[in-house]
Amino acid sequence: MPELPEAETLALELRRTVVGKRIVEVRFREPKALNLPPDEFVQKAKGRVEKVQRRAKAVALFLEGDGSLWLHMGLRSDVGKVPRNEVPPKAFLTLVFDDGSAFYMDKTFMGYAHFVSKEELPVRWAESGIDPLDEAFTPGKLKEIVASKPSQAIKSLLMDQSIIGGIGNIYSDEVLHAAGIYPARKCSTLSDEEVKRLQRAIREILTSAVDQGGGPEMRDFRGKVGGYKEAVHGREVCLEHDSPVKKISFGGRTAYVCEKAQG
Ligand SMILES: [Zn+2]
Repeated sequence: MPELPEAETLALELRRTVVGKRIVEVRFREPKALNLPPDEFVQKAKGRVEKVQRRAKAVALFLEGDGSLWLHMGLRSDVGKVPRNEVPPKAFLTLVFDDGSAFYMDKTFMGYAHFVSKEELPVRWAESGIDPLDEAFTPGKLKEIVASKPSQAIKSLLMDQSIIGGIGNIYSDEVLHAAGIYPARKCSTLSDEEVKRLQRAIREILTSAVDQGGGPEMRDFRGKVGGYKEAVHGREVCLEHDSPVKKISFGGRTAYVCEKAQG
């Protein structure tokens, strides 16, 4: 399931390959995944790409003129950049560029492609909370966030996209494991020291996952598979401590917990 590191990998790949190029053709398979009527979307999504930015788990292509094209890989997506005649026939979305290349998203589940006008941008931008890789995400900032939701479970807080943008089910388990914190604990029970450890773990795990091109379900445009290996999420034995991992449930969520580090 793509989260911040996978979206960042996609953003880096698009920045490397499409900035300065013009989108001349747009194809898609699921009109429901667009935020505008298809004809209007296709018209507006054409243009020269000026910059690429990630916001939480989405990637925005800023187009010459006044709009941006927001792409979200949903729960799953294969992405690639190939000559236009090599796009997989059932691709969810295809952007054809003026140099004959094409970017595609394939096998996409629950993803979307939205066109956001200049006027709508501030609202769209503000829908996501602070980026955990932003300099402003300091231990003090996390302490403030944790203090604002005293009765919430820490894992739920980390996954609330309106508060912190980009962390989902997988990386929340990973950062809580690295910080040695039980996922169902209420925010009010965390000590200052634990909040500091958590902030550090968030930065370290996400940075490391970005450096490795995300997790194993992610492939960059050269076909390289993401190298990040989960320590606890989806496992029965902790990769780091070689101790049993339990799957727990609380408040409609599940989490993987290492008996040694978070017992
Ligand atoms: Zn462990």
